[in-house]
Amino acid sequence: MSSSSPTPRVLDGIAIANDIKAEVALEVAAARKAGYTPGLAVVLVGEVPASQIYVRSKVKTCAELGIYSEMITPPDSITTDELLAIVASLNARDDIDGILIQLPLPAHVDTPRLLDSVTPEKDVDGFHPVNVGRLLSGTGGDDLLAPCTPAGIMQILRRSDIPISGRNAVVIGRSNIVGKPIAAMLINASATVTVCHSRTHDLATITRAADILVAAIGRPGFVTRDMVRPGATLIDVGINRITGEAELEQFFPGDAARRATFTKRGSTVVGDIDPAAFAVGGAFTPVPGGVGALTIAMLMKNTLTAARVRRGRK
Ligand code: NAP
Repeated sequence: MSSSSPTPRVLDGIAIANDIKAEVALEVAAARKAGYTPGLAVVLVGEVPASQIYVRSKVKTCAELGIYSEMITPPDSITTDELLAIVASLNARDDIDGILIQLPLPAHVDTPRLLDSVTPEKDVDGFHPVNVGRLLSGTGGDDLLAPCTPAGIMQILRRSDIPISGRNAVVIGRSNIVGKPIAAMLINASATVTVCHSRTHDLATITRAADILVAAIGRPGFVTRDMVRPGATLIDVGINRITGEAELEQFFPGDAARRATFTKRGSTVVGDIDPAAFAVGGAFTPVPGGVGALTIAMLMKNTLTAARVRRGRK
Protein backbone atom coordinates (compact mmCIF):
# COMPACT_ATOMS: atom_id res chain seq x y z
CA MET A 1 0.00 0.00 0.00
CA SER A 2 1.13 3.54 -0.61
CA SER A 3 1.94 5.49 2.50
CA SER A 4 0.48 8.90 3.14
CA SER A 5 3.05 11.68 3.06
CA PRO A 6 2.63 15.29 4.14
CA THR A 7 4.77 16.48 1.22
CA PRO A 8 4.01 14.64 -2.01
CA ARG A 9 6.98 13.76 -4.19
CA VAL A 10 7.23 15.51 -7.55
CA LEU A 11 7.99 12.97 -10.29
CA ASP A 12 10.25 15.08 -12.48
CA GLY A 13 9.55 14.06 -16.09
CA ILE A 14 12.16 16.43 -17.48
CA ALA A 15 14.98 14.89 -15.40
CA ILE A 16 13.88 11.34 -16.31
CA ALA A 17 13.59 12.27 -20.01
CA ASN A 18 17.10 13.77 -19.88
CA ASP A 19 18.47 10.56 -18.36
CA ILE A 20 16.84 8.48 -21.11
CA LYS A 21 18.10 10.81 -23.85
CA ALA A 22 21.63 10.63 -22.44
CA GLU A 23 21.45 6.82 -22.45
CA VAL A 24 20.14 6.83 -26.04
CA ALA A 25 22.91 9.22 -27.14
CA LEU A 26 25.55 6.84 -25.75
CA GLU A 27 23.99 3.88 -27.55
CA VAL A 28 23.67 5.86 -30.79
CA ALA A 29 27.38 6.73 -30.56
CA ALA A 30 28.15 3.02 -30.12
CA ALA A 31 25.93 2.15 -33.11
CA ARG A 32 27.73 4.71 -35.27
CA LYS A 33 31.06 3.23 -34.23
CA ALA A 34 29.69 -0.18 -35.20
CA GLY A 35 28.88 1.22 -38.66
CA TYR A 36 25.23 2.25 -38.65
CA THR A 37 23.28 5.40 -37.79
CA PRO A 38 19.69 5.05 -36.57
CA GLY A 39 17.37 7.05 -38.84
CA LEU A 40 13.90 8.49 -38.36
CA ALA A 41 11.57 9.76 -41.10
CA VAL A 42 8.75 12.06 -40.07
CA VAL A 43 5.82 12.60 -42.41
CA LEU A 44 4.10 15.90 -41.71
CA VAL A 45 1.08 16.60 -43.90
CA GLY A 46 -0.13 20.17 -44.39
CA GLU A 47 0.41 23.12 -42.11
CA VAL A 48 -1.09 22.38 -38.69
CA PRO A 49 0.86 24.75 -36.38
CA ALA A 50 0.81 22.43 -33.33
CA SER A 51 2.03 19.49 -35.46
CA GLN A 52 4.79 21.66 -36.94
CA ILE A 53 6.00 22.51 -33.43
CA TYR A 54 5.96 18.84 -32.32
CA VAL A 55 7.78 17.69 -35.45
CA ARG A 56 10.41 20.41 -35.15
CA SER A 57 11.23 19.35 -31.61
CA LYS A 58 11.40 15.69 -32.65
CA VAL A 59 13.85 16.52 -35.46
CA LYS A 60 15.88 18.75 -33.13
CA THR A 61 16.12 15.99 -30.51
CA CYS A 62 17.29 13.52 -33.19
CA ALA A 63 20.11 15.91 -34.05
CA GLU A 64 21.08 16.30 -30.37
CA LEU A 65 21.32 12.52 -29.93
CA GLY A 66 23.12 11.75 -33.20
CA ILE A 67 20.09 10.15 -34.88
CA TYR A 68 19.65 10.84 -38.60
CA SER A 69 16.27 12.41 -39.37
CA GLU A 70 14.36 13.41 -42.43
CA MET A 71 11.16 15.42 -42.77
CA ILE A 72 8.71 14.73 -45.56
CA THR A 73 6.16 17.53 -45.83
CA PRO A 74 3.50 16.89 -48.46
CA PRO A 75 0.68 19.43 -48.87
CA ASP A 76 -2.80 19.11 -47.37
CA SER A 77 -4.16 18.04 -50.75
CA ILE A 78 -2.18 14.78 -50.84
CA THR A 79 -4.29 11.65 -51.35
CA THR A 80 -4.25 8.44 -49.32
CA ASP A 81 -2.71 6.59 -52.28
CA GLU A 82 0.09 9.13 -52.62
CA LEU A 83 0.81 8.86 -48.88
CA LEU A 84 0.79 5.06 -49.12
CA ALA A 85 3.44 5.36 -51.84
CA ILE A 86 5.61 7.57 -49.59
CA VAL A 87 5.33 5.05 -46.75
CA ALA A 88 6.13 2.16 -49.10
CA SER A 89 9.35 3.89 -50.20
CA LEU A 90 10.32 4.58 -46.55
CA ASN A 91 9.55 0.95 -45.65
CA ALA A 92 12.01 -0.13 -48.35
CA ARG A 93 14.88 2.19 -47.37
CA ASP A 94 17.74 0.71 -45.38
CA ASP A 95 18.83 4.04 -43.85
CA ILE A 96 15.39 4.62 -42.30
CA ASP A 97 14.67 2.67 -39.10
CA GLY A 98 11.64 4.55 -37.83
CA ILE A 99 8.65 6.05 -39.63
CA LEU A 100 6.43 8.50 -37.83
CA ILE A 101 3.26 9.87 -39.38
CA GLN A 102 2.34 12.99 -37.47
CA LEU A 103 -1.33 13.02 -36.48
CA PRO A 104 -3.91 14.36 -37.07
CA LEU A 105 -4.05 13.87 -40.83
CA PRO A 106 -6.48 15.77 -43.06
CA ALA A 107 -10.04 14.36 -42.88
CA HIS A 108 -9.94 12.96 -46.43
CA VAL A 109 -6.95 10.71 -45.63
CA ASP A 110 -7.64 7.13 -44.51
CA THR A 111 -5.61 7.31 -41.29
CA PRO A 112 -6.02 3.68 -40.09
CA ARG A 113 -5.03 2.35 -43.54
CA LEU A 114 -1.97 4.57 -43.61
CA LEU A 115 -0.84 3.64 -40.08
CA ASP A 116 -1.29 -0.05 -40.94
CA SER A 117 0.92 0.40 -44.01
CA VAL A 118 4.00 1.24 -41.91
CA THR A 119 6.01 -1.95 -41.55
CA PRO A 120 5.79 -3.09 -37.89
CA GLU A 121 9.61 -3.14 -37.67
CA LYS A 122 9.71 0.64 -38.31
CA ASP A 123 6.53 1.57 -36.38
CA VAL A 124 8.19 3.78 -33.76
CA ASP A 125 4.79 5.12 -32.63
CA GLY A 126 3.74 1.59 -31.67
CA PHE A 127 0.35 1.96 -33.36
CA HIS A 128 0.55 -0.95 -35.83
CA PRO A 129 -1.81 -3.85 -34.97
CA VAL A 130 1.16 -6.25 -34.82
CA ASN A 131 2.87 -4.13 -32.16
CA VAL A 132 -0.44 -3.55 -30.33
CA GLY A 133 -0.90 -7.34 -30.32
CA ARG A 134 2.61 -7.92 -28.98
CA LEU A 135 1.95 -5.40 -26.22
CA LEU A 136 -1.32 -7.08 -25.26
CA SER A 137 0.20 -10.54 -25.30
CA GLY A 138 3.12 -9.33 -23.19
CA THR A 139 5.66 -10.52 -25.76
CA GLY A 140 8.46 -8.56 -27.34
CA GLY A 141 10.31 -7.63 -24.15
CA ASP A 142 12.89 -4.88 -24.64
CA ASP A 143 12.52 -5.16 -28.42
CA LEU A 144 8.87 -4.12 -28.41
CA LEU A 145 7.95 -0.86 -30.15
CA ALA A 146 5.34 0.42 -27.71
CA PRO A 147 3.39 3.70 -27.83
CA CYS A 148 5.61 6.50 -26.55
CA THR A 149 3.41 8.27 -24.00
CA PRO A 150 2.39 5.17 -22.00
CA ALA A 151 5.92 3.77 -22.32
CA GLY A 152 7.11 7.07 -20.82
CA ILE A 153 4.69 6.67 -17.91
CA MET A 154 6.15 3.23 -17.17
CA GLN A 155 9.64 4.76 -17.18
CA ILE A 156 8.51 7.39 -14.68
CA LEU A 157 7.03 4.74 -12.38
CA ARG A 158 9.99 2.37 -12.62
CA ARG A 159 12.75 4.97 -12.35
CA SER A 160 10.96 6.55 -9.38
CA ASP A 161 10.72 3.14 -7.63
CA ILE A 162 6.93 3.31 -7.44
CA PRO A 163 5.73 -0.23 -6.62
CA ILE A 164 3.44 -1.59 -9.36
CA SER A 165 3.13 -5.35 -8.82
CA GLY A 166 -0.01 -6.19 -6.86
CA ARG A 167 -1.07 -2.54 -6.62
CA ASN A 168 -4.46 -1.19 -7.66
CA ALA A 169 -4.07 0.94 -10.78
CA VAL A 170 -6.97 2.94 -12.16
CA VAL A 171 -6.78 4.43 -15.64
CA ILE A 172 -9.30 7.08 -16.66
CA GLY A 173 -9.51 7.11 -20.46
CA ARG A 174 -9.56 4.30 -23.02
CA SER A 175 -7.91 5.87 -26.07
CA ASN A 176 -5.70 3.76 -28.31
CA ILE A 177 -2.85 6.23 -27.77
CA VAL A 178 -2.83 6.34 -23.97
CA GLY A 179 -5.61 4.65 -21.98
CA LYS A 180 -5.63 1.16 -23.50
CA PRO A 181 -1.85 0.75 -23.89
CA ILE A 182 -1.04 2.00 -20.38
CA ALA A 183 -3.66 -0.42 -19.02
CA ALA A 184 -1.92 -3.27 -20.89
CA MET A 185 1.51 -2.20 -19.64
CA LEU A 186 0.30 -2.03 -16.04
CA ILE A 187 -1.32 -5.48 -16.36
CA ASN A 188 1.96 -6.82 -17.77
CA ALA A 189 3.69 -5.31 -14.73
CA SER A 190 1.25 -7.25 -12.49
CA ALA A 191 -0.91 -4.36 -11.30
CA THR A 192 -4.62 -4.93 -10.79
CA VAL A 193 -6.05 -2.58 -13.38
CA THR A 194 -9.42 -0.89 -13.76
CA VAL A 195 -10.11 1.18 -16.87
CA CYS A 196 -12.72 3.93 -16.62
CA HIS A 197 -14.32 6.11 -19.30
CA SER A 198 -17.23 8.43 -19.92
CA ARG A 199 -19.81 5.69 -19.26
CA THR A 200 -18.30 4.58 -15.95
CA HIS A 201 -20.68 4.78 -13.00
CA ASP A 202 -19.57 6.16 -9.67
CA LEU A 203 -16.09 7.05 -10.89
CA ALA A 204 -14.95 8.56 -7.58
CA THR A 205 -15.52 5.30 -5.68
CA ILE A 206 -13.24 3.54 -8.16
CA THR A 207 -10.55 6.21 -8.26
CA ARG A 208 -10.40 6.35 -4.45
CA ALA A 209 -9.27 2.71 -4.48
CA ALA A 210 -6.28 3.52 -6.71
CA ASP A 211 -2.70 3.22 -5.51
CA ILE A 212 -1.74 4.47 -8.97
CA LEU A 213 -4.17 6.78 -10.74
CA VAL A 214 -3.58 7.60 -14.41
CA ALA A 215 -5.73 10.41 -15.83
CA ALA A 216 -5.86 10.58 -19.66
CA ILE A 217 -9.11 12.38 -20.29
CA GLY A 218 -8.54 15.77 -21.89
CA ARG A 219 -10.57 17.81 -19.39
CA PRO A 220 -8.89 20.47 -17.24
CA GLY A 221 -8.68 19.56 -13.57
CA PHE A 222 -11.27 16.79 -13.91
CA VAL A 223 -9.90 14.68 -11.02
CA THR A 224 -10.60 16.51 -7.78
CA ARG A 225 -9.20 16.02 -4.25
CA ASP A 226 -12.14 13.94 -3.11
CA MET A 227 -11.46 11.41 -5.91
CA VAL A 228 -7.93 10.66 -4.71
CA ARG A 229 -6.80 8.16 -2.11
CA PRO A 230 -4.29 9.76 0.30
CA GLY A 231 -0.77 8.72 -0.65
CA ALA A 232 -1.67 7.57 -4.18
CA THR A 233 0.69 8.06 -7.11
CA LEU A 234 -0.97 10.49 -9.51
CA ILE A 235 0.00 10.33 -13.19
CA ASP A 236 -1.46 13.25 -15.09
CA VAL A 237 -1.39 12.78 -18.86
CA GLY A 238 -3.70 15.69 -19.70
CA ILE A 239 -2.47 18.77 -21.48
CA ASN A 240 -5.25 21.35 -21.48
CA ARG A 241 -4.68 24.97 -22.43
CA ILE A 242 -6.64 27.43 -20.34
CA THR A 243 -7.13 31.03 -21.37
CA GLY A 244 -9.68 32.37 -18.89
CA GLU A 245 -8.99 34.36 -15.74
CA ALA A 246 -11.62 32.35 -13.84
CA GLU A 247 -9.88 29.04 -14.66
CA LEU A 248 -6.49 30.50 -13.73
CA GLU A 249 -7.87 31.46 -10.32
CA GLN A 250 -9.68 28.12 -9.93
CA PHE A 251 -6.61 25.96 -10.57
CA PHE A 252 -3.71 28.20 -9.53
CA PRO A 253 -4.94 30.55 -6.79
CA GLY A 254 -2.11 32.73 -5.50
CA ASP A 255 0.45 31.08 -7.83
CA ALA A 256 2.60 34.02 -8.94
CA ALA A 257 4.70 31.99 -11.40
CA ARG A 258 1.62 30.71 -13.21
CA ARG A 259 0.11 34.14 -13.32
CA ALA A 260 3.33 35.49 -14.86
CA THR A 261 3.25 32.80 -17.59
CA PHE A 262 -0.43 33.42 -18.16
CA THR A 263 0.08 37.17 -18.47
CA LYS A 264 3.02 36.73 -20.85
CA ARG A 265 1.44 34.11 -23.12
CA GLY A 266 -2.29 34.65 -22.64
CA SER A 267 -2.66 31.02 -21.55
CA THR A 268 -1.22 28.27 -19.40
CA VAL A 269 -1.63 24.49 -19.27
CA VAL A 270 -3.37 22.40 -16.68
CA GLY A 271 -3.60 18.63 -16.58
CA ASP A 272 -6.59 16.36 -16.08
CA ILE A 273 -5.95 16.38 -12.33
CA ASP A 274 -6.82 19.45 -10.30
CA PRO A 275 -3.49 20.73 -8.90
CA ALA A 276 -5.18 20.88 -5.48
CA ALA A 277 -5.55 17.09 -5.64
CA PHE A 278 -1.77 16.63 -5.97
CA ALA A 279 -1.45 17.64 -2.31
CA VAL A 280 -3.40 14.51 -1.30
CA GLY A 281 -1.16 12.15 -3.30
CA GLY A 282 2.12 10.57 -2.28
CA ALA A 283 3.72 11.42 -5.62
CA PHE A 284 2.57 13.17 -8.78
CA THR A 285 3.63 14.18 -12.26
CA PRO A 286 3.37 17.96 -12.73
CA VAL A 287 1.91 19.62 -15.82
CA PRO A 288 3.98 20.75 -17.60
CA GLY A 289 7.19 18.85 -16.78
CA GLY A 290 5.73 15.40 -16.14
CA VAL A 291 4.47 12.82 -18.63
CA GLY A 292 4.65 15.20 -21.60
CA ALA A 293 8.42 15.47 -21.24
CA LEU A 294 8.86 11.72 -21.82
CA THR A 295 7.12 11.30 -25.16
CA ILE A 296 9.94 12.50 -27.43
CA ALA A 297 12.57 10.70 -25.34
CA MET A 298 10.64 7.45 -25.84
CA LEU A 299 10.38 8.12 -29.58
CA MET A 300 14.18 8.38 -29.69
CA LYS A 301 14.48 5.17 -27.68
CA ASN A 302 12.07 3.40 -30.05
CA THR A 303 14.06 4.59 -33.09
CA LEU A 304 17.22 3.18 -31.55
CA THR A 305 15.43 -0.09 -30.70
CA ALA A 306 14.07 -0.37 -34.26
CA ALA A 307 17.57 0.18 -35.68
CA ARG A 308 19.11 -2.36 -33.32
CA VAL A 309 16.47 -5.04 -33.91
CA ARG A 310 16.39 -4.60 -37.70
CA ARG A 311 20.15 -5.09 -37.79
CA GLY A 312 20.07 -8.07 -35.47
CA ARG A 313 22.08 -6.25 -32.76
CA LYS A 314 21.65 -6.92 -29.05
P1 NAP B 1 -9.12 10.94 -26.06
O1 NAP B 1 -8.81 10.06 -27.20
O2 NAP B 1 -10.03 12.11 -26.26
O3 NAP B 1 -9.73 10.03 -24.89
C1 NAP B 1 -10.26 10.59 -23.72
C2 NAP B 1 -10.81 9.51 -22.84
O4 NAP B 1 -11.34 10.14 -21.68
C3 NAP B 1 -11.93 8.70 -23.49
O5 NAP B 1 -11.72 7.33 -23.28
C4 NAP B 1 -13.17 9.20 -22.78
O6 NAP B 1 -14.17 8.22 -22.60
C5 NAP B 1 -12.62 9.60 -21.42
N1 NAP B 1 -13.50 10.58 -20.80
C6 NAP B 1 -13.97 11.74 -21.35
N2 NAP B 1 -14.80 12.34 -20.50
C7 NAP B 1 -14.86 11.56 -19.40
C8 NAP B 1 -15.58 11.64 -18.17
N3 NAP B 1 -16.41 12.64 -17.93
N4 NAP B 1 -15.42 10.66 -17.26
C9 NAP B 1 -14.59 9.62 -17.52
N5 NAP B 1 -13.90 9.48 -18.67
C10 NAP B 1 -14.03 10.44 -19.60
O7 NAP B 1 -7.80 11.55 -25.41
P2 NAP B 1 -6.28 11.02 -25.37
O8 NAP B 1 -5.68 11.09 -26.71
O9 NAP B 1 -6.18 9.74 -24.60
O10 NAP B 1 -5.63 12.18 -24.50
C11 NAP B 1 -6.03 12.46 -23.17
C12 NAP B 1 -5.28 13.67 -22.66
O11 NAP B 1 -3.89 13.37 -22.66
C13 NAP B 1 -5.43 14.93 -23.50
O12 NAP B 1 -5.39 16.06 -22.64
C14 NAP B 1 -4.20 14.94 -24.37
O13 NAP B 1 -3.81 16.25 -24.76
C15 NAP B 1 -3.18 14.34 -23.44
N6 NAP B 1 -2.08 13.64 -24.12
C16 NAP B 1 -0.82 13.94 -23.74
C17 NAP B 1 0.25 13.31 -24.34
C18 NAP B 1 1.64 13.64 -23.90
O14 NAP B 1 1.85 13.95 -22.77
N7 NAP B 1 2.62 13.58 -24.74
C19 NAP B 1 0.05 12.35 -25.35
C20 NAP B 1 -1.26 12.03 -25.69
C21 NAP B 1 -2.32 12.68 -25.06
P3 NAP B 1 -15.00 7.57 -23.85
O15 NAP B 1 -14.04 6.61 -24.48
O16 NAP B 1 -16.15 6.91 -23.19
O17 NAP B 1 -15.38 8.71 -24.74
